Amino acid sequence: MANDVVIVGASFAGVACAVAAARAGADVRVLERRRDPGERLHTTGIVVKEALAEIDAIAPLPESLARPIRGVRLHAPGGASIALDSPGYFFLATDTPALMRWLVDRAREAGVAVDCGVPFDGASRAAGGWRLPDGTGTRFLVGADGPKSRVARSAGLGLNARFLFGEEIEIAGASLAEPDRLHCFLDARRARGYIGWMFAGVGVVQAGLAGTHARGGGTPDADEFVAAVAPRVGLSGGHARARRAGLIPIGGPVAPGAADRVTLIGDAAGLVSPLTAGGIHTALESGRRLGVALGVARAGPAWRDATAPLVVAPPAPRFRAKRLARAIYDRVQSDRLFDLAIGNRAFAALARLVFFHRRGLASPAAWRDLIR
Ligand SMILES: Cc1cc2nc3c(=O)[nH]c(=O)nc-3n(C[C@H](O)[C@H](O)[C@H](O)COP(=O)(O)OP(=O)(O)OC[C@H]3O[C@@H](n4cnc5c(N)ncnc54)[C@H](O)[C@@H]3O)c2cc1C
Repeated sequence: MANDVVIVGASFAGVACAVAAARAGADVRVLERRRDPGERLHTTGIVVKEALAEIDAIAPLPESLARPIRGVRLHAPGGASIALDSPGYFFLATDTPALMRWLVDRAREAGVAVDCGVPFDGASRAAGGWRLPDGTGTRFLVGADGPKSRVARSAGLGLNARFLFGEEIEIAGASLAEPDRLHCFLDARRARGYIGWMFAGVGVVQAGLAGTHARGGGTPDADEFVAAVAPRVGLSGGHARARRAGLIPIGGPVAPGAADRVTLIGDAAGLVSPLTAGGIHTALESGRRLGVALGVARAGPAWRDATAPLVVAPPAPRFRAKRLARAIYDRVQSDRLFDLAIGNRAFAALARLVFFHRRGLASPAAWRDLIR
C-alpha cells in the first residue's frame, strides 16, 4: 500500500508538515527513530514570540508547557552586564520533553500514522514515488530528519556543511537571582562563534553553550561553564538531571533542497538562522508550508502520473543578511572588544535587534534604531 506522504522525523518540522498535509486530506505516515519523542533531546526549546502562531496553527499551546521570559541580560566576559528589554516581546521557555510528546499526539489526532522507534535507512525510487525497505511505498518523501539528514543523502539532495555544536545541562531544584530574564554570555574562549546561556525554564534551570564545530576540534564544556558563571547569576542549589546536545547547521539553506517527489524541511534543509542559531520557528514554518503545498499538489494531475516530474518547494528564507552578520561576528568576536562595548548605547541597540528581531536586520527602520 502506498502512502501519499512519508515524513522522516517527528520533531517541529515533521509534525507541522504532517498535520498540515493530513488536514488537506493526505494519507500521511511519519517515521521517527526515537521510541519516545521526548527522550534524548537536542534542543534548548526556547520558542520565539513569532513561532507561537505556528504552534497555535497545530493546536493552542497548553499553558503548562511553557513559561514566558520577557527580557535578556547580556553578560560581557569581564563580568559587566546590561539588561535588554522590548515591550511586548517574549520568549517561551518550554517543558520540551512534554512539548515534543504533545506535538506527536496532535499529529495522531489529525489522522497521521506516527511510527516511533522506526529509523529510516534509505529509500529507492519507484514509478511515481518511493519504495521503503519495509516494502511499503509513498508518492512523496519528506526529510524532516535534522542536521545530518539521511533523506538528503538517500535522495542525493544538498547536505549541511557548517555547524555549531551545543551542549546544555538541565539543573533540577535550582533557582536564579533574576528568573525572568534569559541570561546570555559573550565568551569568545568558551563559546567561540556563539554564546552561553542560562535561564529558569519550566521546573528546571537550563544552562549551556555552543561553539563552532570542526572535525577534530574541541567541544564546549558545559560543566566548566556553569561553574564559572554560577556566581554571576546567583545560581543556587540543584543537581544536573539531564543533558541535551547536538549540531546546529549555520551555513544557510542546502542546495538542492528538493527534487522530484522529495523535499527537505527544517534543519535538514539548513533553515536555521545563521546568526542566532534559532531553528524552531523556521522548522515549524517550513513544515506547515510544505504540508499545505502537498495538499495542493495532491489535487493536481502530476500526483498520480508516474511519468510526470513533481517538485514541491515552497518559499523559504535565504538568510542573506544573517549570513553576512554571522561572517562579521566570526571575524570580530573578541573578549576585549565585548568588555569595551558592553556599556555602549549603539551596542545595546544592536543586541536588542538580534535578540528581539522585531524587524528584519536589513530593514531601514532597524538601522535608524541603531544610529539614533
Ligand atoms: C543544543 C541545541 C540547542 C538549541 N536551542 C534552540 C532554541 O532554544 N531555540 C530554537 O529556536 N532553536 C534551537 N536549536 C535549534 C533547533 O533545535 C532546531 O533548529 C530544531 O529542532 C529543528 O527542528 P527539525 O524538526 O527540523 O529537526 P530536529 O528537531 O533535529 O528533529 C529531527 C527528527 O528526526 C529524527 N530522525 C533523525 N534521523 C532519523 C532517521 N534516520 N530515521 C527516523 N527519524 C530520524 C530525530 O530523532 C528527530 O526527532 C537548538 C539546537 C541545539 C543543538
